[in-house]
Amino acid sequence: MSGTQTDRLQELLTGLRLVKTAVELPKLLQDAGKKDMSHADFLEEVLSRETTAKGERQTLVRTTMARLPFHKSLESFDFKQQPSLDPKAIKELATGRFIANAENALLLGPPGVGKTHLAVGLGLKACAQGYRTTFTTAAALIGNLQRAQTEGRLEERLKQLVQPKLLIVDEIGYLPIDRTGANLFFQLVSRRYERGSLLVTSNQSLSAWGDVFGDRLIATAILDRLLHHSTIVNIKGESYRLKEKRKAGLLTRSEPYTQSAPAGGA
Ligand code: ADP
Ligand code: MG
Repeated sequence: MSGTQTDRLQELLTGLRLVKTAVELPKLLQDAGKKDMSHADFLEEVLSRETTAKGERQTLVRTTMARLPFHKSLESFDFKQQPSLDPKAIKELATGRFIANAENALLLGPPGVGKTHLAVGLGLKACAQGYRTTFTTAAALIGNLQRAQTEGRLEERLKQLVQPKLLIVDEIGYLPIDRTGANLFFQLVSRRYERGSLLVTSNQSLSAWGDVFGDRLIATAILDRLLHHSTIVNIKGESYRLKEKRKAGLLTRSEPYTQSAPAGGA
């Protein structure tokens, strides 16, 4: 080792992968000198900065791995625009308690009311809280399971899908699911039951899930497990997208807009 003591310290810090401190060391030392910090205070400052930075890096990795379709936070959700939605229900979900308890959450409501936005916002929170999270749509998930079955890798795929503490399945009900798909989804829900949380969104009321899954019996079995430990959030009202358009004068109130039937409870 050569150079100044700062050079040597930076080398040692880099070797220990304390990169943030290595980069910021000259300034940290200067500040410590100015503030006449004790050794213990300086060490605490350095270690807490490193710990925060490490946490942020891990959150970034988890967030990337979650494959969220976009990054919109709960903070950017305007609850005033959605009076049917109790912010307390979302706040409670945002604490991550439901994930810690391997419970489920269902966000139900017509298109455009913010279900995916909320699911993504909750996904971001989960990543920040240290929960391994995966986002998928019902169509992609079922397609994926069907391919795995054809290739004789279903067991392997189901095992993978049990790993994330939070699995977000968006858009149940937009596309009809055939019997094989329904069966595969049931297997997944059973595997995750009381092991890991599912956060699902649907534009269909739960009473319509028999049609969504093309089989009342399978739909009932899926709902039985999904709802046992769950929070149901019903969102009613008008599409946010249409509201924005109307505000911009692109749509008049007389323009026909047929709203889907409000999603029902369990
Ligand atoms: P859904 O999944 O219910 O169809 P989205 O979550 O895709 O609806 O919302 C449609 C668009 O409107 C998105 O860009 C979303 O960010 C935005 N949006 C919906 N509701 C709100 C809200 N209350 N505050 C802010 N943005 C919203
Ligand atoms: Mg959506």
